Amino acid sequence: MNNLNIFNESKRYMPGGVNSPVRAFTGLNINPPVIKSGKGAYIYDEEGKKYIDFVLAWGPMILGHSDEEVVEEAIKTLREAQAFGAPTYLELELAKLICDIYKIDMIRMVNSGTEATMSAVKLARGYTNRDKVVKFSGCYHGHFDAFLVAAGSGVMTENIPGSAGVPKDSIKNTIIANYNDIENVKEVFEKWGEEIACVIVEPVAGNMGVVPATMEFLNFLREITNKYGSLLIFDEVMTGFRVALGGAKELYGIQPDLVTFAKIIGGGLPCGAYGGRREIMEMLSPIGSVYQAGTMSGNPVVVSMGLATLKKLKSNGGYYEQLEQLSSYMHRQIEVILNNKSIPFVINRCGSMMTVFFTEENSVKNYEDAKKCNIDLYRRYAEHMITNGIYLSPSQFEAMFLSVKHTKEDIEIFLDVLKRFH
Ligand SMILES: *Cc1c(COP(=O)(O)O)cnc(C)c1O
Repeated sequence: MNNLNIFNESKRYMPGGVNSPVRAFTGLNINPPVIKSGKGAYIYDEEGKKYIDFVLAWGPMILGHSDEEVVEEAIKTLREAQAFGAPTYLELELAKLICDIYKIDMIRMVNSGTEATMSAVKLARGYTNRDKVVKFSGCYHGHFDAFLVAAGSGVMTENIPGSAGVPKDSIKNTIIANYNDIENVKEVFEKWGEEIACVIVEPVAGNMGVVPATMEFLNFLREITNKYGSLLIFDEVMTGFRVALGGAKELYGIQPDLVTFAKIIGGGLPCGAYGGRREIMEMLSPIGSVYQAGTMSGNPVVVSMGLATLKKLKSNGGYYEQLEQLSSYMHRQIEVILNNKSIPFVINRCGSMMTVFFTEENSVKNYEDAKKCNIDLYRRYAEHMITNGIYLSPSQFEAMFLSVKHTKEDIEIFLDVLKRFH
């Protein structure tokens, strides 16, 4: 079957032809390839064309596609356990493993990152008995109403819903602050400190392109939330088990009150989780008064896939060093090539997540900086790369990922294709 025919027919049955917006390649003048299969670092479309995959399902496939051991585990479980809506031993194993790696007391599984963040915020509100939530502009925490807020030009301006269908009432307790801006957060706490239930942050932002928080910024968030009795939530949906086994928390050495996971912990199946200190987590039903439930939460097949993935990551301690080396090689070579072409850029990278920003700025530290990028140049770059078998994000404001299956040869092919970009 031909990609274009499938995609055109998909548009008749699914809005935009997709089940999630970014897949539609709206900003590009090429149609998205329709993907049929994946193995290791490669994916194949319906026309049999091969791509080296730098999207990796937007992060989860850190072991590459269809890793033999992970798939075996999932199939074994599938043969005897699909869903019970009852406690299982598998979910205990996964809970223990995540709690052990991330140094938290308790965890609850859900089915997506969105569900994890909205539940964590509800829990923080229940625990603190406060309503306000601080979110940073450019950070993405899923499609929960309270997070779909277009920031005004400053914190003191009125919020505007970031999507149709979001009532103004749903965002009236959301405060938008600037990422990596300590002074701004100070102002916010001076004005609303006693009413703030939590601050939610991507410790290494990946959803405005990669923008790591500074150490000072995260330390400040830890201090000020402690001072005001607000909870600090690290949204590690993308960074968890990606930037290090222990996520961004391990890199920065800062312990949040609550953490959210998804992506890698499902090993490629729909999954999410949130966790933290016992006294907070025990506020959850059935023992506490914050209600949250899920028919498919902790599904055995998903859990065994996640468990196999995390066990493999944990037992192969060298993976993160391997990813860092390959990623830093790629980083340096991209710099050389773009410098030779006199294309202005900034590369932000944290381990195996990286964004090449096409910008004349000297650095990209927040959403304001990211928005100054040359979107048209990115569009032409993405079209060139994808057409030539390098599958990467159709949008400038996303990360590029490596898996442990990517080889130096794969990176050389990427670099060769980049050299031919003009
Ligand atoms: C992907 C992502 C989410 C949303 O997760 P879904 O599983 O798509 O709902 C939330 N937060 C961050 C940081 C993410 O990268």
